[in-house]
Amino acid sequence: MSDSAIIELQNLLGLIIPSPEQRIIPAWSGAKDYTISVKRDDMLHPIISGNKWRKLKYVLINAQQKGIKHLISFGGGHSNHLHALAYCCHKLDIKLCAIIRGDYSNNLTAMLQDIIDWGAEINWVNRVTYQRRDEPAYLQTLKHQYPQALIIPEGGSQSLALDGVAEIVSELNQQYDYIVTPVGSGGTLAGLIHASQQSTSNVLGVAVLKGQGYLEQLVTALLPGTEKQRIHWTINHDFHFGGYAKKNQQLATFCADFSQQTGLPVEPVYSGKMFYALQHLIQQRAFPLGSKILALHTGGLQGNRG
Ligand SMILES: *Cc1c(COP(=O)(O)O)cnc(C)c1O
Repeated sequence: MSDSAIIELQNLLGLIIPSPEQRIIPAWSGAKDYTISVKRDDMLHPIISGNKWRKLKYVLINAQQKGIKHLISFGGGHSNHLHALAYCCHKLDIKLCAIIRGDYSNNLTAMLQDIIDWGAEINWVNRVTYQRRDEPAYLQTLKHQYPQALIIPEGGSQSLALDGVAEIVSELNQQYDYIVTPVGSGGTLAGLIHASQQSTSNVLGVAVLKGQGYLEQLVTALLPGTEKQRIHWTINHDFHFGGYAKKNQQLATFCADFSQQTGLPVEPVYSGKMFYALQHLIQQRAFPLGSKILALHTGGLQGNRG
């Protein structure tokens, strides 16, 4: 697809690209010893959650080019990925079948109500079936059931996602010593590692779920062969608060204070844990003094509704 066709697609969806890059000075002890900036991907679009657009961009362009009119994807009842994807499908006149973990038919979340309104077909599955979402035999059955459809993995994390995420780095106005991102399914971190061949930044992921070892494997699996040996990245596992979407009063208070100090909206599932980690790592002087640090705000604020 030509550059002008891509711009047309972004305009049709109402995306504002590039997203702003903003200096913040939070009231944290030690913060003045560093330069801290935020890449505001939460501002790309009011519905298409920041990093989800980055991951979906080339998947959707590819679908448009091939005339694909039916997509299938997976998620939980609050999934930012399905929310972003369903909105794109609605705007682009593509059918979406959403495979949902659990049966919420009598108890729809705000996210599910939105995607139903945008025309998504919902397929409730139990946990055991959902566990099989990446198994070749299960995917084969889906392909049989929906022969015209393209299957997108949970979270949109796949090799095709990396180039879109890498564009976050090429948009930056300056070089950073560290780029920090929350980590869920690893696609965003993998894309930032993929990008940093053009820069000297170290990439630090903050795990938002319990997954020491497992998350590193996911990220390595997503990287192209020649990039699997890269060593300028790590995942910190100290700030998941007990697991995915788990939180306590301390995290809730932190999110409220941080938003008040900086004017940045945050939620406790992803960005809240990342900024909390950043505060503590800065207090511990985990970065060399004077480092320039960029935190990627990945969006996801619709999750605040539930
Ligand atoms: C999905 C999501 C993430 C996690 O990204 P991965 O590529 O799955 O690691 C981070 N932040 C927000 C807001 C998200 O919606």
